[in-house]
Amino acid sequence: MTFAKQLSGQTALITGASRGIGRAIAFQLAEAGAEVVVNYANSPNKAEEVVAEIKSLGGSAYSLQANIADESSVEELVKTVLERSEKINVLVNNAGITSDGLLMRMKTQDWQSVINLNLTGVFLCTRAVSRTMLKQKSGRIINITSVVGLMGNAGQANYAAAKAGVIGLTRSTAKEFASRGITVNAVAPGFISTDMTKELDADAILSAIPLRSFGKPDQVAGTVRFLAADPAASYITGQVIQVDGGMVMS
Ligand code: NAP
Repeated sequence: MTFAKQLSGQTALITGASRGIGRAIAFQLAEAGAEVVVNYANSPNKAEEVVAEIKSLGGSAYSLQANIADESSVEELVKTVLERSEKINVLVNNAGITSDGLLMRMKTQDWQSVINLNLTGVFLCTRAVSRTMLKQKSGRIINITSVVGLMGNAGQANYAAAKAGVIGLTRSTAKEFASRGITVNAVAPGFISTDMTKELDADAILSAIPLRSFGKPDQVAGTVRFLAADPAASYITGQVIQVDGGMVMS
């Protein structure tokens, strides 16, 4: 008997995998044996670095540019992956942005851009892979939400609304797809050290985290890797798993 890699022979599409949490997810899924598609929007060099590093470690990866907030761009992305890899076994909806401000002064554009990528983008990617996964009668969809979607956050009405929406979308999709062997779960990180959080006041936030540290991208990626694994996570669907150092306990 030999120990096979858990995701060998599988293709995983990760949105926003050029930096931060998505990048860590790309490495972990590649280490588990998946062929990884590194999607990016504006950082071709960073995406290529991820691909080159995965290949240098013996993994398999390629990068594809697509704006996840744009319907035709998402359709083109999924079409290209299917032409190249002939399957999509794992979709990680990770791409996200913030555009913070108090609600009273929030511009409609700031509301719309965050909803368009962080919520509508998850819908667009899920719909685009759904035909393939339904036909395959298998698949894993993992949506990156946030604890802010559970607890709300002053100055992030747009982001919190989008992330709360992702939780409703996760549960609805989980119910629609369950009979076809597709699981849909969400991972809700707390505060993770990435470009997204580098401007935040660390001291003020740390006091609200029982484990007294910011999370690392790899700690979120480990949970995603678990949710993608078969049979380890095959009986889990419609769940929201928090990776937040104990910040939000309910
Ligand atoms: P990040 O370091 O800012 O990276 C964002 C990623 O999203 C980049 O790869 C970026 O690609 C990509 N992206 C941005 N706009 C895009 C678009 N229109 N289409 C496709 N890709 C796009 O952010 P992060 O901290 O890793 O966050 C990743 C996810 O975790 C997000 O959904 C975020 O909301 C969530 N999250 C983060 C935290 C945290 O504390 N960091 C906490 C909770 C949830 P380019 O490099 O090409 O721009």
